[in-house]
Amino acid sequence: MTARHPSDPTFLPIARPIADATESGWYLTSGPDLPLTPHHSTSQCDVLVIGAGWMGLHAARRYAELAPQERVILVDAGRIGNNASGRCMGFAIDLAHNPRKHDFVEDMQGNREELHVNLEGNAYLRSAVEELGVECDWDPQGKYHSAATDHGIEDLVAFSKALDAMGQGYRWVEADEMQAMTGSRHYKRALHHPGTILIQPAKYLKNLARVLPDNVTIHENTAVTAARFDPAGHVFRTTGGEIRARKVILCASGYLQSFGFFGGSAIPVYTFASMTRRLLPSELAQTGEAEAFGLIPANSFGTTVRKTRDNRLLLRNVYAYARDFRVTKPEVERAARQQQVSFDRRWPGLSAIGFESIWGGLLTLSQNGGMVFGELGPNIYGAAYCNGTGVSRGAAFGKAVAELSLGRTSATIDILNRRPKPTRAYPRLITQTGVNLVTGWRFRRAGQEV
Ligand SMILES: Cc1cc2nc3c(=O)[nH]c(=O)nc-3n(C[C@H](O)[C@H](O)[C@H](O)COP(=O)(O)OP(=O)(O)OC[C@H]3O[C@@H](n4cnc5c(N)ncnc54)[C@H](O)[C@@H]3O)c2cc1C
Repeated sequence: MTARHPSDPTFLPIARPIADATESGWYLTSGPDLPLTPHHSTSQCDVLVIGAGWMGLHAARRYAELAPQERVILVDAGRIGNNASGRCMGFAIDLAHNPRKHDFVEDMQGNREELHVNLEGNAYLRSAVEELGVECDWDPQGKYHSAATDHGIEDLVAFSKALDAMGQGYRWVEADEMQAMTGSRHYKRALHHPGTILIQPAKYLKNLARVLPDNVTIHENTAVTAARFDPAGHVFRTTGGEIRARKVILCASGYLQSFGFFGGSAIPVYTFASMTRRLLPSELAQTGEAEAFGLIPANSFGTTVRKTRDNRLLLRNVYAYARDFRVTKPEVERAARQQQVSFDRRWPGLSAIGFESIWGGLLTLSQNGGMVFGELGPNIYGAAYCNGTGVSRGAAFGKAVAELSLGRTSATIDILNRRPKPTRAYPRLITQTGVNLVTGWRFRRAGQEV
């Protein structure tokens, strides 16, 4: 039984996202803030999109493009670009290597469908850059799956078999080339897979928000605090007033469950990143010949690395169960200490410079890997839960859910409608203990890949 609002039982109280403990380096270096217009008083719209991450921004964009006569309102509890979407590593991944999925190599149909969805997402991102002029340090150089150990190389060999079976091109990169490219002796071998695009995520999100069609109104720092779903017209209370909407598209990541859908299914896991200041020319010389690069660890518990267009190094690793969807500053600092170790392993001559910014961000996982997509009720649509990667997927899910809500059909909609929905997770204590034990164990096993 879902709890009702104490002051008006026809309203469902909605949990408000909690602000992150630190700002992300991407956000701090993403240029001028968007004009801030929190919602107040009473508004009316055709469709309300809740959540302005990869999913919500692209749902709003697509809806507004397809229905220019309709009024779209997009709200977010925080600032666009400072959410999980803007805190990510900025890999728009066409085909993720998922060694945790036991049948990854055999599941050709699943991999092809995943590729189809992600390519649609990447094409939509590209159109924002090329047609709308969204500046985001766009760099379609692909990704280097990088191994520092023999077991990492074995993981890459397994991945290469899946790529072979799919007819995907790739290239092996040996240790000396990796060293020339990155300046680091850490890597033994890598597999370069083209297709992934590197972006500055906070820049992309903010700059897309600036150029959304005129029929979209954005309200940041506007949490939806209560909802009354009604097929004849929904009513949402916000921190500043009330929004009445004919339709709603819920893109609120794991918070979606507080809107009364998929209760108990979101597994909130944080992962963490640390970014250096801009490197000086003498320091830059130690980071190899490539102007920028993106390294995905061969072992998924290893360290993801980027060298950015503005000459910074950025490292991501460590997973932690995030009780109540948040982590504290000491937890961010603890993860940053691990990133310092990883920095030292890769660039011992540079690591003393430390990090300018450190942060964590939310990944919403589900027990069965299911994601939310589709019609959740009369005039209620949803796209949420990234299960680890959400840039390309988010763009595709957001675009597709907007199309679905306007009665359109597409191959992507068919694929996403067929996919399993998130199932209820084990009780919190069991899930929390399980996540922390498994991630801790796998992290230790990843060894020098971290
Ligand atoms: C450190 C890190 C690195 C990552 N790297 C990558 C990567 O390189 N590539 C990749 O593909 N993925 C990556 N990810 C995952 C990716 O960031 C997420 O999958 C993605 O951001 C999810 O997007 P989203 O739109 O579903 O959710 P979010 O970005 O979480 O957006 C949901 C929004 O809903 C809003 N919201 C929730 N409740 C309410 C409410 N009641 N009222 C108003 N607003 C509300 C929130 O404020 C939030 O802004 C990474 C994640 C992290 C943390």
